[in-house]
Amino acid sequence: MADKATFNQSFLKFLGGSPTPHHAVQNMATALEGRGFTELFERDSWKIKPGAKHFVRKNGSSLIAFEMGEKPPAETGFRMVAAHSDSPCLRLKPSPEVGMHGAWKLGVEVYGSAILSTWFDRDLSLAGRVMVKSKTGGVTSELVNWKKAVAVVPNLAIHLNRNVNKERCINEQLELPVIWTQSERGKNFRSALLEQLKSAGSDATEILDYEISFFDTQAPSLTGLAEEFISSARIDNLASCFIGLESFLDSKPAGSKLFVAFDHEEVGSRSHVGAQSAFLANTLARLCPVPEDRMRAVAQSILVSADNAHGIHPNYADRMDPQHSPRINGGPVIKSNNNQSYATNARTGAFLAECFGEAKVPVQRFVVRTDLGCGSTVGPIVAAQLGVDTVDVGIPQWAMHSCRETMGSEDAFALARALGVFYATVAGREA
Ligand code: ZN
Repeated sequence: MADKATFNQSFLKFLGGSPTPHHAVQNMATALEGRGFTELFERDSWKIKPGAKHFVRKNGSSLIAFEMGEKPPAETGFRMVAAHSDSPCLRLKPSPEVGMHGAWKLGVEVYGSAILSTWFDRDLSLAGRVMVKSKTGGVTSELVNWKKAVAVVPNLAIHLNRNVNKERCINEQLELPVIWTQSERGKNFRSALLEQLKSAGSDATEILDYEISFFDTQAPSLTGLAEEFISSARIDNLASCFIGLESFLDSKPAGSKLFVAFDHEEVGSRSHVGAQSAFLANTLARLCPVPEDRMRAVAQSILVSADNAHGIHPNYADRMDPQHSPRINGGPVIKSNNNQSYATNARTGAFLAECFGEAKVPVQRFVVRTDLGCGSTVGPIVAAQLGVDTVDVGIPQWAMHSCRETMGSEDAFALARALGVFYATVAGREA
């Protein structure tokens, strides 16, 4: 694994180059291909040999990568890391154009539980996946990214909204439509989209459908007097995608290993590509086709559910349990919840803590305040579906689900090293 500075630079590039789950999965696929992994397709017949290195995408927004060990999985189990590729944002409606008072606006749906106030007064751009008809008449999927700022949701002046700093309630339908032009071209989003695709070299002749999001064009950056912090959009949970994949690529597997990034975690994971889908179970069935072998493999496997944790915020320290308040740059966090919002149990927590010790990475613990509700992750979902022993871990961050989030510049590299040890740890080491 590279040194921390190089690692963080690649991480910032990944964050900035992945405005949507489709772009994140494309970037992960490119990284895998660069390291000798070849793509498999669900529709094809698979013949998986010992030592095989492959990945498979679903919908272009979820991805599973795996490297088979020399011994069968029934003898070693899988070391697995799961993250999610999606983040809260504003998504375009199918017929988004609204013309009012000399401006064209684009209507949006709120994807996931975004902090809405953070989307105002930003230099917004558009990116996503578009289904198009090409010159030859075929239907293909293309990625689009305007890259430059093309839209804004302006705040209302304080003179017209005197209570803005005391009480703010945002009506999603009325206040979030994004203003993007005064030009008459604004009345037909699809023709503007087609123009954009063509200017990027596409031979598309018609837009059939799309999944397009707004994103903030401000580039990810190191910040803080001593560059202690990383500030970016989508830290939750592209950080875990990047960290998980880097540790997957850089570790020497003791047995078989797997990395998965699921779409749709922020909206409950119930989709054909989310953690509640059959994607992972079906893929494991193809890697281990004999049910008896698969049961034995799962029984010896451990899954790390990697998703960010809350770091204690110096201005709001009372929102955390005093004994379980992770600090930014204090190391990755093992999250537990006896009501099973996190899947960590004593056995998996101990196993991961051992890996952290071996990597010389400090470990922090998080439990939500007893009088507050707890967030969740893909961990309990996958644990329940597969019956696999699971531990929830993540780096601490501030402002989770803001348009611009903050994390420590030490923690990502630390978690990557710890997960590298996890991937390389032989089966049967735990009791
Ligand atoms: Zn998350």
